[in-house]
Amino acid sequence: MRDFTLEKYQELCETLLGCGYAILTVRDYLQQRENGQENVPKTAILRHDVDRKPENALRMARLENEMGICSTYYFRYPYTFKPEIIRKIRDFGHEIGYHYEVLAKAKGDPEIAIRFFEQELKAMRDICEINTICMHGSPLSSYDNRDLWKEYDFRNYGVEGEAYLSIGGRDVRYLTDTGRSWSGKRSVRDIMPGSGRVNVKTTDDLVAWIESSGIEELYLTVHPERWAVSAGDWAISYMKDVVMNTGKNIIVAMR
Ligand SMILES: [Zn+2]
Repeated sequence: MRDFTLEKYQELCETLLGCGYAILTVRDYLQQRENGQENVPKTAILRHDVDRKPENALRMARLENEMGICSTYYFRYPYTFKPEIIRKIRDFGHEIGYHYEVLAKAKGDPEIAIRFFEQELKAMRDICEINTICMHGSPLSSYDNRDLWKEYDFRNYGVEGEAYLSIGGRDVRYLTDTGRSWSGKRSVRDIMPGSGRVNVKTTDDLVAWIESSGIEELYLTVHPERWAVSAGDWAISYMKDVVMNTGKNIIVAMR
């Protein structure tokens, strides 16, 4: 059976639920912790970065809704900003967040970047509530979008948390499907400080690891564009990852 299909994703979610994990949005997790609920056993934060193909996000959101799951979907502006899709996903009960990449857009100038940030955040808030944000990794840019918060404070913009900065450092095991492997080896920036790597590659490996590890706090990032619904869709998505991975391997090797 092919990996990275919607069926395989459903299997992953069923595993989490079957193992007794409470699946949380980024916002819900941060609020729980803020309310002093530390070390709540078996929680899994479920995050989606909608880098491309918002229609795939909608399918994933619908599937999760059918399974009784709420997660967080981060949308880029303007690349995946599709108000109609965003509203539908929100109506399924999911959290909508802002996937910002303004420092890369501003070529590293924080004053220009923060203006972009305000404009884009406002445009998103015109259609729905935004409470948390998440940097886009911009793998081919030399700027790390999170560096904007060395100069400014996102709380001054009514933002409760940033998906890396507000969770990094806690005792959470972070896993991402970046580069079509769960091992994290292909992540240029998609790395959580303090979270060790897990030696899993395929989603089947991940499912087996979740079933046996008994880990208390999990944090999963799933890119909906990677999870195909048709065979043709799967082949195109696979080839895109092969091309991107070649570029990223060069970047990782240069570090
Ligand atoms: Zn992204």
